Amino acid sequence: MTSNSHAEYPPELSQAEEQYLLSNLKDWSIAHGLAVRPAPSFVEPSQDPAGVLASTAPVTLFPSLFPRSCFEEGMAIQKAYNELYSGISRDEPWLQSIVEELVDIDDFVAKLWRTHLEVKKEGYVQELSLGLFRSDYMVHQDPSLANAAPGLKQVEFNTIASSFGGLSSQVSALHKYLLTIDAYPSSTSPMIKEEGLRQSNSASSLAKGLAAAHHAYGSSRASPSLCVLFVVQNPERNVFDQRHLEYALLKESGVRSFRLPFSETLAHTRLDSDRTLIYTPPNAPSTAYEVTTIYFRAGYSPDDYPRDEDWSARLHLEKSRAIKCPSILTHLAGCKKVQQVLATPHSPHLKRFLPNDQVAARVLETFAPIYPLDDSEAGKEARKLATDASSATKYVLKPQREGGGNNVYRKAIPPFLEKLPETHWPAYILMEMIEPPPLENAILRNGELQRGGVICELGVYGVCLWKEGNGNDKKGEVLESWEAGYLLRTKGDQSEEGGVAAGFGAVDSCCLV
Ligand code: ADP
Ligand code: MG
Ligand code: MG
Repeated sequence: MTSNSHAEYPPELSQAEEQYLLSNLKDWSIAHGLAVRPAPSFVEPSQDPAGVLASTAPVTLFPSLFPRSCFEEGMAIQKAYNELYSGISRDEPWLQSIVEELVDIDDFVAKLWRTHLEVKKEGYVQELSLGLFRSDYMVHQDPSLANAAPGLKQVEFNTIASSFGGLSSQVSALHKYLLTIDAYPSSTSPMIKEEGLRQSNSASSLAKGLAAAHHAYGSSRASPSLCVLFVVQNPERNVFDQRHLEYALLKESGVRSFRLPFSETLAHTRLDSDRTLIYTPPNAPSTAYEVTTIYFRAGYSPDDYPRDEDWSARLHLEKSRAIKCPSILTHLAGCKKVQQVLATPHSPHLKRFLPNDQVAARVLETFAPIYPLDDSEAGKEARKLATDASSATKYVLKPQREGGGNNVYRKAIPPFLEKLPETHWPAYILMEMIEPPPLENAILRNGELQRGGVICELGVYGVCLWKEGNGNDKKGEVLESWEAGYLLRTKGDQSEEGGVAAGFGAVDSCCLV
C-alpha cells in the first residue's frame, strides 16, 4: 500500500493502543462468526485434519470514510436496479440478442444458454424467480474538476452468489462495538461518530428474501417437510458468511435449510414426475424434503463444472419446480456484456426496462463508460484504445465471468489481446477504470497488519421476487422488492482486484462524512 500525505484519517496508534484494539477486534470477530476457514497457505490442511479451525476474516481496523450522498444514492436506487434486472431476466428475446453475440466464443455462456433452451423445450414449471442481487460501486471524483462533487459509479451488477451479506452485518457491528468500548483512541473518535456508522442489515434482509420465496412456493406436493437448499462449493472457506444467512432464515422465519455441495446434486436430489425437487440429507436418507427454493452459492464459474455430470446437475435443478435463486436467465442477465449494452450512450435499452424517465436517469448516472470489442463503430474505437500502450492504462478488460481474478488491467491489456485471436475479442468488454479519491486505512489479514492507501467498493444488496410473464401478461410482475443492506470491501491501492475471498481485500463498514 502507498502512503498518502493528505490523509489525517486514521491517525497513528501507539503500540499499546494498537494492541488493545487488535485484541478486542480478534476476540469479537471469532465470538461473532466474523470468520473464515483458514487459507491453506496460513494453516496447512495437515495441521487441521479434523477441519475445526477458523480464523478472523480480513477486516479493516477502522470504518472507512465514505461520502454520505453517494451512500444514500446507492441505497435509494437499489429498487430501480431490482426492477431493471428482474425485467431483463423476464425478457428472453432481449437477452437472447445479447447471448447470441457470445455463444460462439464463450463456451460457458453457450452451455448456460443451451441448458435454458433444454428446460424451455419441456416447459418451465415454476413461474416465480428470486434474485439476491448486489450492485457494486466505487466513488468517482473527476480529477480535472477540483471541487467536483463525488459521484457513485457502478463496477458491476451481481445476479448470482452475491456474497458477504453475512459477514457485512458482522463487521458493521464490530466497528460500532470498538467505538463504544473506546478501543479507538480519543484522537480518532471525533472522526468516527456513532451517528455516521451504518449498520448493514444484509444477513437478515437477504434471509428474509429466501423466506419470502419459500412461503410464495405454496403448499407441498410430495413431502410435508419443506426446505431451502443452499447449493455450495466444497470446500468453501467463506462458509460462515453463508451460515449467517442460514441461521437468520431459521431463527427469524423458522425455515429449515440444507447445504448441498453442487458436485453431489445428483446423488442427493431427485425429481418427481411433476418435477417437484426432493432432497434426502446424507445423514437421514429415509427423510425426504421438498425443496421450495434453490440458493446457488456455486455454479457461477466454469471451475464448478469439471464433469459433464455437473451440467446435468444444473439442468436437473433448473428443470425442477423449486424457485431458483437465480434462474439461468437471471444468471445470464449478470453478464458484463449486459452491463455494457445498457451503458451504450443514447441507447433505448434502459427505457425498455425502466419506463419512468426520472428513475432511469438516476440509474444512468451510475454507469461508467463501457465499450464492446466487436465490429461496431464503438467497438472499433475501443479496439484502438485497448491495443495502444498509452491509452490502455485507463481501462480494465473483462470477460463474462464471476468470482474475481478474471480481469486484465491497464498495461497488461495490449499484450493480452495480442495473444488472443481477434474473433474472440467480442467475448470481452472494455471499461474505464474508476479512480476513487485517496483514502487510508489499516487491514488485518492472517494476523498481519497493513497500513496505507486503500480503495473502497460499496455493494448494495437487493432482494427481488417476481413472476414470469405468460401468454396474457407477457411482462410478468414484481411481487417483492427491497434494498437489503450494504457491503463495503476495502483493498490496498496497489491491488487491481478487490475480492476478499480471492485474497485481495477486507470487509469494512461505512463511516459517512
Ligand atoms: P467480478 O465479477 O469477478 O467480481 P468485477 O467487475 O467486480 O468482476 O471486477 C473485479 C474487481 O476489479 C473489482 O472488485 C474492482 O476492484 C476491480 N474493478 C473492476 N472494474 C473496475 C473499474 N471500472 N474501475 C476500477 N476497478 C475496477
Ligand atoms: Mg461479479
Ligand atoms: Mg466484483
